[in-house]
Amino acid sequence: MNIESFKDKARKVIEKIAEYYRNIEKYPVKSKVKPYELYDKLPENPPEKPEDFEKIMNDIDNIILPGITHWQSPKFFGYFPANTSEPSILAEMLTSSIAAQCMKWETSPIAAELEERVLNWLKKEMGLPDKWHGVIQDSASSATLASILTAREFKSNYNINKEGFTNQKYTVYCSTETHSSIEKAVKIAGIGSNNLRKIPTFDDYSLNYHLLKKHIEQDIEAGYEPLCVIAAVGTTGSLAFDNLREIGEICNENNIWFHVDAAYAGTAMLLDEYKYLLDGIEYADTYVFNPHKWMFTNFDASVYFVNDKRALLDTFEIIPEYLKTKSYGKVNDYCDWGIPLGRRFRALKLWFVIRMFGIDGIKSRLRQHINYGELFEKEISKISGIELLAPRVMNVIAFRYNPGDLPETELNSLNEKILQKINANGEIFLSHTKLNGKYTVRFVCGQTYVEERHIKIALQEIEKAITGIR
Ligand SMILES: *Cc1c(COP(=O)(O)O)cnc(C)c1O
Repeated sequence: MNIESFKDKARKVIEKIAEYYRNIEKYPVKSKVKPYELYDKLPENPPEKPEDFEKIMNDIDNIILPGITHWQSPKFFGYFPANTSEPSILAEMLTSSIAAQCMKWETSPIAAELEERVLNWLKKEMGLPDKWHGVIQDSASSATLASILTAREFKSNYNINKEGFTNQKYTVYCSTETHSSIEKAVKIAGIGSNNLRKIPTFDDYSLNYHLLKKHIEQDIEAGYEPLCVIAAVGTTGSLAFDNLREIGEICNENNIWFHVDAAYAGTAMLLDEYKYLLDGIEYADTYVFNPHKWMFTNFDASVYFVNDKRALLDTFEIIPEYLKTKSYGKVNDYCDWGIPLGRRFRALKLWFVIRMFGIDGIKSRLRQHINYGELFEKEISKISGIELLAPRVMNVIAFRYNPGDLPETELNSLNEKILQKINANGEIFLSHTKLNGKYTVRFVCGQTYVEERHIKIALQEIEKAITGIR
């Protein structure tokens, strides 16, 4: 590497990043390009000779940014946020430069030790059981898959890993509101999506544990073996919270593996006023939350905690000769704690985020986001015809426009039209779900640098779209 030339280019990249953040509110939040419009701008063949760096940087503006939906815009209110922050960006620069392969303790000891330390910090600050062990996964989907595979092996006495399925008839349970990653994991784990029971919810969209109990009893009667229940600490649709104590007790009585998916809302467990949502967490076998959603750490960084580290290792551990180490058993070799062998040094960005914000800094930002959620709910409710479709616990508001003189069947397409209009305008971005068959607009205000003025802009945009539609 030519260090002087690298420094020169790196400065240009920093300038570009600074300019991007300076202008981020000017871009249409959702990319406006048509399918393959940008593909056709890319040459059919790769360059034979090195290209000029300036030319590549120009294409960031010409080709790349037009095709980006700006997740870091403070006017992005869709899905769940996929945040980054100043500390996270800085740490990622170092990670990509050091570029260590952190599969084993020996392949970079500090990566393993920092991971263990930082996750222990989070465990303690969030009031999670002290005896749990943590590991960073690439995504909540992978963590949930790891949990279901571990449940499968634990229940089959580690036999399915060896023999494949023999005659097990496992069933898995979650609510109708749980995330699609659960069905995906059930498919991949060989359980079969027909054996996933989606249990109806209460009116607040949390899992109806009475029905859970009934379904489990019926399945046992019919010769099935209930394997695992997955509860949501914050559903994706409306951020509903399943009752961990009630569900945990059912799992405990029936010897069923209990996984808790707190992908988005898990970050808020730093706040004492929300720790009540974890009541009953001691029953959980495994738990996942995503700092890459709401904890200001860029994708990917998903924190996975397990109660029984041995069960996890006995499911995944595989040690060929070329990976044998002298330190085995004394340290954590995290490649044995999940699916991929290769691992990025992801603890570094969590460490930067926690140190540069401080736990108090993270907490006050989260509280601000929740206050904005409260403000938005109050203000949107003043618009005539706005119907709130689920209770708000934090900063997710589920609503629709119902003028009152239209049949239910027309409300879905009306709200779809409103949402499309809002997003096409480009000033803000929102996404949707269906709750009880009703087309629901979701407003999530958790973007790292969102301010009150952005909430006001969102309210104006929504009101404008509603006024224009009738
Ligand atoms: C976002 C989300 C997931 C999936 O997270 P990934 O890290 O993208 O796999 C799972 N569960 C819930 C509740 C989510 O909100």
